[in-house]
Amino acid sequence: YDDRDGKIWMDGKMVEWRDANVHILTHALHYASSVFEGERCYNGTIFKSRLHSERLLKSGQLLDMTIPYSVDEIEKAKYAMLKANGWTDAYVRVVAWRGAGDDMGVSARRNPVRMAVAGWEWGNYYGDAKTKGAKLDIAKWRRPDPRTIPVEAKAAGLYMICTMSKHIAEDKGCSDALFMDYRGYVAEATGANIFFVKDGEVHTPLADCFLNGITRQTVIGLLKDKGITVHERRIEPSELAGFEQCWLTGTAAEVTPVGQIGDFHFEVGALTRDISETYEKLVRS
Ligand code: PMP
Repeated sequence: YDDRDGKIWMDGKMVEWRDANVHILTHALHYASSVFEGERCYNGTIFKSRLHSERLLKSGQLLDMTIPYSVDEIEKAKYAMLKANGWTDAYVRVVAWRGAGDDMGVSARRNPVRMAVAGWEWGNYYGDAKTKGAKLDIAKWRRPDPRTIPVEAKAAGLYMICTMSKHIAEDKGCSDALFMDYRGYVAEATGANIFFVKDGEVHTPLADCFLNGITRQTVIGLLKDKGITVHERRIEPSELAGFEQCWLTGTAAEVTPVGQIGDFHFEVGALTRDISETYEKLVRS
């Protein structure tokens, strides 16, 4: 993915895609001192763009890492990158990290904080599962205790178990893995939040130890606007057997129906289709 044409914004300049490189002694590469955002641009407008930029700065603060750009500067960088590549519809990836410094070690006081904005054209995150329903494996790893790591940060270090769990899921023919949290409650997938439907009401895990996704919050708002009751609560894995519908939410995933989790089956039902279409309309409006 590195040797191709295109433009990437890096530390205030637009550089060629193939020249957007970092040194091998980059702090982030060794100690996961990196935070990022995933955003989607629809018809020339990035959905909830400023919220994503604010979350990036907050993720940096949570890692004791001050990103040397303001929300307005990040906004400008994202649109400059899209313009330089001629994209109106694309996925936008902003990343900030601690670079190579005067010395190398766990302390990063002498390492500069750097930032880049890249993008690519990305269709359905889960391929044809977007219409048919995704199959999820149950991950053997758990979302960590908030006392062990800043779980609200969209930070690289929190994705190590995501990659491992996703590989195991893919080996089993699944699209993704569903994590339980450190207490054993249902949490989220490796890059998306989860919702369930039962008796016309919606249930979603309380986001108290994982990313409270921007799409999650948007979809909760859309459901409430439709007069649907949404329960944000602790969900036991034993409850999976009783839910009728299920979907995932995320910037990349958008609203993707889930057809199966482990041995439990769900229908791609009317409410799932309705909320998926409503979300689709909103992001393009
Ligand atoms: N959880 C994780 C672990 C994620 O990576 C993402 C994608 N950013 C989400 C949830 C959904 O967040 P959002 O709706 O803000 O994209």
